[in-house]
Amino acid sequence: MGSGQVTDWQGKHVTVAGLGVSGVPAAKVLHGLGARVTVVNDGDDARAREQAAALEALGVTVRLGDGATLPEGTELVVTAPGWQPDKPLFLAAERAGVPVWGDVELAWRLRGTVPGKPVAPWLCVTGTNGKTTTTQMLASILRAAGLRTAAVGNIGVSLLDAVLGEEPYDVLAVELSSYQLHWAPSLRAHSAAVLNLAPDHLDWHGSMEAYARDKGRVYEGNQVACVYNVADKATEDLVREADVEEGCRAIGFTLGTPGPSQLGVVDGILVDRAFVENRRESAQELAEVSDVNPPAPHNIANALAAAALARAFGLPPQAVRDGLRAFTPDAHRIAHVADVNGVAYVDDSKATNTHAAEASLAAYGSIVWIAGGLAKGATFDELVARSAGRLRGVVLIGADRALIREALARHAPEVPVVDLDRTDTGAMLQAVQEAARLAQPGDTVLLAPACASMDMFANYNKRGDAFAEAVRELGAGA
Ligand code: ADP
Repeated sequence: MGSGQVTDWQGKHVTVAGLGVSGVPAAKVLHGLGARVTVVNDGDDARAREQAAALEALGVTVRLGDGATLPEGTELVVTAPGWQPDKPLFLAAERAGVPVWGDVELAWRLRGTVPGKPVAPWLCVTGTNGKTTTTQMLASILRAAGLRTAAVGNIGVSLLDAVLGEEPYDVLAVELSSYQLHWAPSLRAHSAAVLNLAPDHLDWHGSMEAYARDKGRVYEGNQVACVYNVADKATEDLVREADVEEGCRAIGFTLGTPGPSQLGVVDGILVDRAFVENRRESAQELAEVSDVNPPAPHNIANALAAAALARAFGLPPQAVRDGLRAFTPDAHRIAHVADVNGVAYVDDSKATNTHAAEASLAAYGSIVWIAGGLAKGATFDELVARSAGRLRGVVLIGADRALIREALARHAPEVPVVDLDRTDTGAMLQAVQEAARLAQPGDTVLLAPACASMDMFANYNKRGDAFAEAVRELGAGA
């Protein structure tokens, strides 16, 4: 199986690695194309058995409790993106010269196989933080231009559905994780953006270099534009290293005044100095900063990246403005919950790493910060040192809160800290009450934990819900 499209799947031995959100649909699609599909799965619990039974009824072979052995005769492995590259199954595939594709690669290879369905170009977004927001902003801009589109990939509609389903699309706004990119060697986007690069998921990739390399794959073979972050040199380095189509341009985005071939901000206006007739001397006004929701600095950067991709696709300035105005962020991403006694309460439970929390803290002047949870190997010194000047006080929750407390002692010893030594469901209410005690009118109480939530909550949504509930209770008693 080279790098082209596979048109004849009849009788091909394909092994699907992992049941679950991507494995089950992949197995069904491949089986439907006539391939001989075997699914291998590490787990053998009740849920896996249920899924296995449904697939077996179709004629798919399923092996539970053994995700390590490569089935005899395998010609292609299609893996769930989360499976780590050093697993024995992949080493066996490599030894046997068998290619490994992720869900994105499979979707990419199946483009154009549905008769009569238009082949939609992909505008891709990756980065450590801001992917979902930027992809949704982009979809909103594309829609504002009257195009048939969807936000797909790591969010919303699955890529397989987008490529094989009945719904016709003119263009797709595709969010890609570093895992998905790792397993998508032949993906070639119309244009792509890497928003930022900070250490994350290093246990999976093995090193920062390997993580950056996988993110950089999004630029490979781009046709029109590689969009990078002027403030994050690592993203520009990735553009330089990428092998792109002739004529493809490097386009920067910046919160400052843009140079030629950049988008940026001048006097509260988002401007384009890249996709204009005379980029040496002129700039095109796209939207106002106040059109971006919320107008926090990192989110303006997201809007500029989305605008750059939309402009690369040839959209007019008005679509950028209308699309940004029509966009509302998903829950738990800098969501204003309520004002109580002159203090704003903001839920950014999605700030699950230090880079995201730092962006969030940079958006407010005087903050009571609620932080903590599972640190996932992170250190907090830089975050605390850079944010110390904005902190009125801090309330710490969760398993790894001592790491943040120690960083605060080193870099912000004068900031009052309340350390909550409990992880029960009532802990968030107490955290909010303590934060209210520390806050003064005009302050913001900001839940931006810089940590994962699973020590105390099912996920970051539940953590944010608990925060909002606690704020409501506080308001009711105010
Ligand atoms: P992702 O899909 O990459 O996880 P989201 O759009 O869901 O990104 O945003 C996750 C969190 O990351 C937000 O709640 C916010 O705290 C932070 N964030 C969003 N955009 C940026 C950015 N451009 N730079 C840094 N942090 C960001």
